[in-house]
Formats: sequence, structure tokens, C-alpha cells
Amino acid sequence: MELRLHDTLTREKRTFVPLDPNNVRMYVCGPTVYDFAHIGNARPVIVFDVLFRLLRHLYGAAHVKYVRNITDVDDKINDRAARDFPGLPLNEAIRKVTEQTGKQFHADVDALGALRPSVEPRATEHIAEMREIIERLVAGGFAYVAEDHVLFSPQAMNAANAGLPRYGALSNRSLDEMVAGARVDVAPYKKGNTDFVLWKPSKPGEPSWPSPAGITVEGRPGWHVECSAMAWKHLGEHFDIHGGGIDLVFPHHENELAQTCCAFHQQRMANYWMHNGFLQVESEKMSKSLGNFITIRELLADWPGEVLRLNMLKTHYRSPIDWTMKSLEESAKTLDDWYRVAADVEPGRPAASVVEPLLDDLNTSLAIAALHSLRGSDVPALAGSLRLLGFLSESAAQWEGRKQQASGIDTKEVERLISERTAARSRKDFKESDRIRDLLAAMGVAIKDSKDGTTWEVAR
Ligand code: AMP
Ligand code: ZN
Repeated sequence: MELRLHDTLTREKRTFVPLDPNNVRMYVCGPTVYDFAHIGNARPVIVFDVLFRLLRHLYGAAHVKYVRNITDVDDKINDRAARDFPGLPLNEAIRKVTEQTGKQFHADVDALGALRPSVEPRATEHIAEMREIIERLVAGGFAYVAEDHVLFSPQAMNAANAGLPRYGALSNRSLDEMVAGARVDVAPYKKGNTDFVLWKPSKPGEPSWPSPAGITVEGRPGWHVECSAMAWKHLGEHFDIHGGGIDLVFPHHENELAQTCCAFHQQRMANYWMHNGFLQVESEKMSKSLGNFITIRELLADWPGEVLRLNMLKTHYRSPIDWTMKSLEESAKTLDDWYRVAADVEPGRPAASVVEPLLDDLNTSLAIAALHSLRGSDVPALAGSLRLLGFLSESAAQWEGRKQQASGIDTKEVERLISERTAARSRKDFKESDRIRDLLAAMGVAIKDSKDGTTWEVAR
């Protein structure tokens, strides 16, 4: 069976045909590093990690290149740096914030079982490519200089129309309507009210670089052009898949696509545009003001990363997901069970019943239903399939041990009570053995008797 992916641009599911099967190329917009990542940010990380793994499975690990950027120049970073390190020069403070936050991000997404992308470019290391794209856009008549800014004109793009896509096609908007509906308080240097910034002058103390297009004061890039530059540098002018969360379709991806296609005079930037749906928490939009803003880090204090991963993948990536405690508890129980039966088993090939739904636009919810069926019929295939999806990174003992540690249960005491109970049972003192079982249960320990003796685990 072939891989089919839903493309936001054409609004259809199509068979995936890579431009070059020996070099399948995917770009996903990464984090802006100014704070701990929240659980919504984990969604694209996990979803596109599954796609990365699937592509590696289909084309070979050496033939897939996955680029996920780090946005390390942004107003939010500057604000945070000024707030947290008021004594330091702003540039140094910014470096501290981006280094710290970048490390936190890596630790978090590693714990979620996400493979590191092939390349993780930083915006600040691609200023030369941004300048080049901007120069090309100005030369082509798609961008202009005004008051030390460089602005991109969507209207110029749609007027040119020679072998270019239509501005607005990705987000399914009409430029005329955007023009009519735009805010009235547009910056005075903009010729058109939908024009967006490619480059702007830096304020004193802010990060700054020599400007393109003959501008004499130093400046810094706009957000959209950063991704055009990084994708170009690492994947070329035209590549296979571009991904991110649904909120990025407009304006970020619409603008990225416009910049890249106009700079390189081409019809397409990526052949498939993929967007994950939004995550909300207990049926509410997640936001700091509602107090239901949860970081990956906070969740990792209570749950193993693979539990968060499974919980995310139970919902198809394009649907909205409601993140609930109840669902997390179920995911934890499921993984406990899979670890017990499959983690120490020699893995077989991933089952067709799991791979086929994944090939159908990454239908992870159906794939997970198939895992449940394999649990009773083919444990080696269950183990192989779980590994394909990025689970079972630990042995059963490590998994159980970590759970015990996290629960704060005194392992020695549990073992002492179990041997007392075994002694009580062998002298047929069932009242005492029941009392000890209840005592253990009250400590949060579940015991299981079998012909080989008594084992225990932390009750969820
Ligand atoms: P940001 O750092 O806000 O640019 O977000 C990084 C990535 O997380 C982007 O791909 C966003 O689309 C995605 N994202 C942010 N919030 C959510 C959310 N609540 N649900 C799903 N994805 C999100
Ligand atoms: Zn981007």
C-alpha cells in the first residue's frame, strides 16, 4: 500500500510521491525559544516524529532528511531576556535565554520519545540566506524598501502571476477580501495594508545585522523569512513536506510560501503542506489567563513521556484534541500493560494492521486500535509495531522501577510485607495475609500471585 497524505493547499488526500526517494525532505516549524514548551507545542513534535519514523521505515533511515528549526530571534525572547537578566547587556541576556530554553526543549521532547531531526537550524545562523532571499524579492519587484524596512507586497505577487501560486491559496483566502478587511491603523510606510515585514531596523541594544537592499542602518529579520531561509539552505528551493500547527497556516505559512516561490520563481515550495489540529485542556482553550496552561515539564513530573506520547496519538493529528486527566490515566494503564507483555519480547516486523492505517494520512487512532488486537494475538508483532511508533524505549523492569521511584513507595518495606504475607499464607493464616494485602493496597501497591510467586507493581 502507498502512503497518502492530506495536503492543506489542495485540500485533499493524495498519494505521496517524493521528489527524490533517496532524499525525502521535510521541514517543520519549531519552537520560539523563550519559555518552557507547553503540551500544545508537543503535538507537532510527536505527530511529525511519527511521520519521520514512518518515512524512515518506507524509504530507509539514510534517505529521509527532517529539518526542524529553532527561532532564536523574536520580540518575546528580547522581552524575556530583559526581564530575567536586567543586569546583563541585552545580547548576552538573549543568548542565556535561548540557550537555557533550547536545552529545556530538547530534554522535554527527548522524553516524549521524539527522534532528533536531521538538522535543527537556528535563525540567527541563517541571516545571510535571509538577506539573499530579500535581495531577490526586491530585485523581482515583490518587495520594496520603506523607512529602513523591507516589505513584501502580496498584491505585487498576485499581479505578476507568471508561474507563481496565488497569494491566499494555502489559507483559502482571497487577497481582495484581505485588503478590504485589513485594519485601518496600518504602519504609514506600508504601501498596501496586507504588506508584511521581511526586515526591520533594530532598536538600540537589540540583536542586529547589516541590512539588505542598500539599507544603511542595521536591522533584523521578520519571522516568516526565517523559515524560508532555513528551509532553502537545508532542503532546497522545492521539497516534499512542510508541517506545523494549524495556527501557522495564516499568516506564517502563506507568507513563507509567497517569499520562497517569488524568490525562486516557482509554483511550489513544498508538495504537501501538513497541519496538526489544536490541543485544548479539559474542553477549554489553554491559556495563561485561564490558569490551565500546562508545560511538558510539569506533565513529565507525573507521567512517563511515553504516556504523553500515547495520549497524543490516540487522536488523529488533524482533529482537535481534548487533553484530559481521564484519558491520561487510561493511556498510562495501557502502556503499563504493553510494557508488561511486550517490552522484553524480541520484536517482530511491525504488523500490516498497524502500518496500513499509518499509511492512510497517519491514522494513529486506528493504528492504536490495531495494537490492542495484537495484544491477544501476536505479541512479537505488537512489540515491533510499538517500536515503530516510538514506544518501548525501556525494559519492563526499568519501566516498573521508574514508576515505583516516582510513586515514593518504600520498595524494601513492600518486599518485607510480601514475604510476611507469603509466610502467613503458607501457614494458612488467611486473615493475616488478607490484612497485609489490604495494607499494601493502601500504600498504592497491587500484588499478583502466580505459581512462580508473588509480584507487585504500583497501582495506577
Ligand atoms: P510556537 O512556539 O507558538 O510558534 O509553537 C510551536 C508549534 O506548536 C507550532 O507548530 C504551533 O502550531 C504548535 N502549537 C502551539 N499551540 C498549540 C496547541 N494548543 N495545539 C497544537 N499545536 C500547537
Ligand atoms: Zn516556520
